[in-house]
Amino acid sequence: MSSKGLLIVFSGPSGVGKGTVLKEYLAAHPDTHYSISATTRAPRPGEEHGREYYFISREQFQELIAKDGLLEYAEYSGNYYGTPKAPVQEALSQGRNVILEIEVQGAKRVLRENPQAVSLFIMPPSMKELTRRLVDRNTEDEATVRRRLDTARNEIAQAGIYDYIVVNDSLAKAVADMDSVLHAAGFSGKNADKLIEEVLKNA
Ligand code: ADP
Ligand code: 5GP
Repeated sequence: MSSKGLLIVFSGPSGVGKGTVLKEYLAAHPDTHYSISATTRAPRPGEEHGREYYFISREQFQELIAKDGLLEYAEYSGNYYGTPKAPVQEALSQGRNVILEIEVQGAKRVLRENPQAVSLFIMPPSMKELTRRLVDRNTEDEATVRRRLDTARNEIAQAGIYDYIVVNDSLAKAVADMDSVLHAAGFSGKNADKLIEEVLKNA
């Protein structure tokens, strides 16, 4: 059996419900490692340093880049976001699945450099519903919401590069669909090198 975990790239436009879907998925799969990103954006009410993100300054972010501490990073809506490399490598080597919740530019980079990674895009039922969710969440000012919706159109247009697309209309269905997709991904041929090697070795 393969002892290495799956690297899962998880994206979707701001406000689609990534955090909401992931929270439920992770509660049901406590062994899956959620990669905590570093960001230069300010915490929203209720967010905690070291839980949702590592909230750091631009200088600290530049230092992380300089010492090659990030697996990938991108600028999004005026802030930097990046994936600390070491915890991801450690969890994968322990055989745990790892979820990177990242935007499309970073996703493309990870997928280019890690062809064995599995990618999943969370899609809103419509732009109208996405707008409603983002506005009703009430965590960003009007200009930021507008900027995020522009980025969302661009991200949705690129959703076809992902292995799987799950629509978050009913939350329960989206979580169940994510579960099915990631379960199936565990049987993917592109992650079977170790299994193939072990079967052939056992002659
Ligand atoms: P993201 O992490 O993608 O930015 P959030 O998880 O913060 O999005 O969700 C954005 C808003 O949409 C939140 O107020 C959340 O409660 C709501 N939401 C999430 N999923 C659904 C859904 N399936 N139906 C209706 N509202 C949803
Ligand atoms: P938010 O500010 O809403 O938490 O996140 C904004 C966007 O940044 C989301 O699309 C989220 O997936 C993405 N993001 C969060 N962490 C990272 C990261 O480490 N790298 C990249 N490339 N994007 C990230």
